Amino acid sequence: MIADLIRKNIRQLKPYSCARNEFRGEASVYLDANENPLNAPYNRYPDPLQKALKAKIARIKGVRPSQIMLGVGSDEPIDLAIRIFCEPQQDNIVAIDPTYGMYQVCADINHVEYRKVLLNEDYTLNADRLLATADEHTKLIFLCSPNNPSGNLLNRDEMEKITNRFDGIVAIDEAYIDFSPEASWLAALDDHPNIIVLQTFSKAWGLASVRCGMAFASEEIIGYFNKVKYPYNINLLTQNFVSEQLNHEDRKNEWVAMLLTQRISLAGQLAAIPWVEKVYPSDANFLLVKVPDANATYQELVRRGIIVRNRHSISLCAGCLRITVGTERENETLIKELSTINK
Ligand SMILES: *Cc1c(COP(=O)(O)O)cnc(C)c1O
Repeated sequence: MIADLIRKNIRQLKPYSCARNEFRGEASVYLDANENPLNAPYNRYPDPLQKALKAKIARIKGVRPSQIMLGVGSDEPIDLAIRIFCEPQQDNIVAIDPTYGMYQVCADINHVEYRKVLLNEDYTLNADRLLATADEHTKLIFLCSPNNPSGNLLNRDEMEKITNRFDGIVAIDEAYIDFSPEASWLAALDDHPNIIVLQTFSKAWGLASVRCGMAFASEEIIGYFNKVKYPYNINLLTQNFVSEQLNHEDRKNEWVAMLLTQRISLAGQLAAIPWVEKVYPSDANFLLVKVPDANATYQELVRRGIIVRNRHSISLCAGCLRITVGTERENETLIKELSTINK
């Protein structure tokens, strides 16, 4: 039962009821929210449940609007999931390691124990090891597929083992799903009442500055997200702008195709540099690259005006740089500079 997993104070919470919640529908005179009557449409509080935008997202993603929560980036639903399910200083979270840093930061902020389970050396997932780390206080498991910073998809069967056997909630972060050959977990939503799928407009859609992320889950779980989130978390400018951007899915798909072509080319060129030790396979829009001295290479690239991500100090990533796939010209510039660094 999902309700048993919810923190008691959240289950019992009486949510803030805002003016736009108490009255729904169309009227000719709005005197309920202490708004300024002038400066339409920005004088009005926006739809707290973003119904128009969700209807559009639902069509594109093949889910029901009631299965969607929109957040300020995916970082918001990550934080909310922890606050909804995990009792501070009592419950815990299990996650793969290495992975996206925000899960631990949000766990730490909420004073919830965060248990890391190392991936295998080749960044593959061992479900049994992960499940063995969970106990009766584990409420949430974070899986990221394709994973950041390793770039690989996690094995579907291993993930399935976890979603089937674990009694708590499994959050599956699909920030890079558009770049991967595998289908999203969204299609499995109706069969898995205990999963939360996270996606974002920040990567393939090219909208990182807009700060809009998506959580998909059962209607029941989404109900708790709606109870806990700030009522007007997604402003009207964002709702309208994202809605307009969704009309250009073709353009997004063209960008993805271009970036995948660039990824293949960049991977080949990096591998051809004599001192590059390894270019890991990627299902995302970045490459993890192992070099003899990651700190020195990172610094040298900075000196030449090129910024990559130094992952040297991250588990299983010693000597590694994470390089985002850029435009053809940006990638050429990177390769040109790397080729003239002597090792
Ligand atoms: C970039 C990224 C996100 C996106 O976060 P936003 O808050 O939506 O910008 C989420 N998860 C992972 C693993 C990422 O790498």
